[in-house]
Amino acid sequence: MALLSGAFLAEMAWDPARCVLAPPNGHRLVVRPVCRVGGCSTTATTARKICLSCQRRLRIAGLGDDEIGVLPAPDEPTRLAVSAPFSNGPCEVAACVRQRRHPDGLYCEAHQMRLRAERRRDPDLDEARWRRTDPAIGRGGEVSLRGLEPLVVAQVLYGLQQRCLVERVQTKESDLRAVCDDLRRQRVGSVAGYVVPKSSNLGFLGLANSFLAHARRAISSPEIEVGRDEWDLVLFGHSGTVSFVAIRQPWLREATKAWAADDLPRRRVRPGRRTSGGLSVRHHVSCVALLSESIGLRSDHGTRPAALGRSDVEAFLNRLAYLTSTGRMSTDARIRAVREVRGVLSRVRAMGLTRPGGVAGGLGDDFVIGRSDVPAEPEPSSTGRDLPPEVMSQLCAHLDGVSSPETRCAIALVIDTGRRPEEICNIAFDCLERDNDGLAVLVFDNHKAGRLGRRLPIAEVTAQLILIQQARVRAWFPATPVGELKLLPTDRRNPDGRSAITPFSLAFAHRRWVTALPPLRTADGVEFDKSHVVLYAYRHSYAQRHADAGVGIDVLRELMDHRKLDTTKSYYRVGESRRRDAVDRVAALVFDRNGNRAWQQVHELVESEHARRAIGEVAVPFGLCTEPSNVGAGGTACPYRFRCAGCDHFRTDVSYLPDLGAYLDDLLRNRERLLASSELDEWARKEAMPSKEEISRIRRLISRIKAGLEDLGDDERASINEAVKTVRRHRAVAIGMPRVRRVGAELRPERHQ
Ligand code: SF4
Repeated sequence: MALLSGAFLAEMAWDPARCVLAPPNGHRLVVRPVCRVGGCSTTATTARKICLSCQRRLRIAGLGDDEIGVLPAPDEPTRLAVSAPFSNGPCEVAACVRQRRHPDGLYCEAHQMRLRAERRRDPDLDEARWRRTDPAIGRGGEVSLRGLEPLVVAQVLYGLQQRCLVERVQTKESDLRAVCDDLRRQRVGSVAGYVVPKSSNLGFLGLANSFLAHARRAISSPEIEVGRDEWDLVLFGHSGTVSFVAIRQPWLREATKAWAADDLPRRRVRPGRRTSGGLSVRHHVSCVALLSESIGLRSDHGTRPAALGRSDVEAFLNRLAYLTSTGRMSTDARIRAVREVRGVLSRVRAMGLTRPGGVAGGLGDDFVIGRSDVPAEPEPSSTGRDLPPEVMSQLCAHLDGVSSPETRCAIALVIDTGRRPEEICNIAFDCLERDNDGLAVLVFDNHKAGRLGRRLPIAEVTAQLILIQQARVRAWFPATPVGELKLLPTDRRNPDGRSAITPFSLAFAHRRWVTALPPLRTADGVEFDKSHVVLYAYRHSYAQRHADAGVGIDVLRELMDHRKLDTTKSYYRVGESRRRDAVDRVAALVFDRNGNRAWQQVHELVESEHARRAIGEVAVPFGLCTEPSNVGAGGTACPYRFRCAGCDHFRTDVSYLPDLGAYLDDLLRNRERLLASSELDEWARKEAMPSKEEISRIRRLISRIKAGLEDLGDDERASINEAVKTVRRHRAVAIGMPRVRRVGAELRPERHQ
């Protein structure tokens, strides 16, 4: 009772004298469907949402469901409190709050009728027991805890408090009443002794189990828990439980417990979210259980640590190899099992537990798993995990078919930004910012590496998607402060928008969507294996897309938010290196509008600006434009009517030489045609005439680029020409700078969000 909050009890209108809870109508977390007849506050569980009493009144009045507006409000029954003076005394049924019907009777009228019915059914009824266990007469909005042991009352109230204040999950009043009635029926002294009926519905089961767990946690702590063979990991800041009972040797079990107690505090914890910490510890323990099983085959059952040696380690390793050979364990699982047992044994030794007197005292020095005992990992597949562009196009074309707006938005964001699914799921409501140029930046937390508040330049189309989602969420949860909202709130157990969809539910919804799609086909028309279409593949596709477009590995590392270049390298195929080399080589000959070499400046960019530039360009007919508003609009909003040859935002390179030549020819042809034309007024001719300045600028640009080529040695020139051919074959490629917006638009032609 000391753990209960007075404010919570007041909110639930807890009446300690009557032992009754009366959560207010419309409470966010303790819910019940109320009859829709005006003035009636009775619970109505039927699909019609009209309570039985009002249904009867409707019938008598000859009215239909659509005429409930004319039905008068029911008479409010007098609330009878046991604390109030009873004229006839309280009903003798323990749970009942009513008064007796007659001064010389024992029960209220309703219980008197129930007793009669029970007696008809069972002439040998034990009336004293029936009196103690029969439920209270149901009254919408009230749950009676009368007749329960004081400890059980405290456990129920505490469980409800934790559900409301900590877990913020909904509790149905009908489930709460049913659990209380069943606790009373079983006459338990503590919820620990309660046997949850096997046939219970999910709501009942969830509530009963959460009462059991909260009652247990209320009087436990990590210090108490480590002495048990099953731990509730919630007490360590993680989720789930871990059981050590499968480890049969007492010394190994205690040593593994010591390892777990040492390891858990170092695991990542996130408020309100499940992390992989508990999962990882559980997996380590299950691997040690395999070792336990192996040494358990010895004649001494492996109970004496001093008797164990290298031959036992070899037996364990051979056993794993055998399981793999018979298909009962995958190669990955075998490697992981060896690694994890090695980790536990090394740590146990480092913690001094193998010293004399320690739990594993006397364990032989040769009972270790060395680095060389870990089987070699298979070579990574050279096909990569990214999806072919044509498959991406088909997926994006069907994206509108995802029914849940949150799931649709999450999948679109994973595709557009290449973030990990868990990063997108947990993104905050106010994740969209603008940089100094007004360009969109996504702010996200990289929980995997513990790097929070990361900034990723994103395309305007993605920013628009976020803005639409923000408006939807704001309308959905108007009362929650913006700083506490999630961009992708879940529709389950989330009354205030503070909980986001989970990576698990997103992956599940994504798989269901992909499975329901028509067959996906490669460019050759071959059916593509849908099992490869997983959320993480979009991250690989994002990396490959940028690598193909020639983004430098350092910029790509920034975009992927990796610490090590080696990690980034594993995200794209080396087979693409030829194209990347070509882009790098052509990048040596980049020019501004005046024909000055521009690439040097790009190299001097600071890291964050580099990432921004990496997606901050858009294609124009014979080069690239870096003007922010035009880039933001995907190249359709030039503020200078596309006078690129005279614009500071323009840049071109040697691969555009043929386009520049064609443009010059075009200008000259137009000029000749206009001069020869007699159909135009003089002013119109003047306006349509290509300017001499533009022609001379283009000429100068062409000659500068050609001169740049001339300056090269024969070998270098040949290599540049080869590179130009490669780059022109992949015209979507910009020089060192991918045009993500254009790539994105090509991949998602049908998106209308
Ligand atoms: S004129 Fe300048 S701003 Fe306009 S498209 Fe050309 S480079 Fe971009």
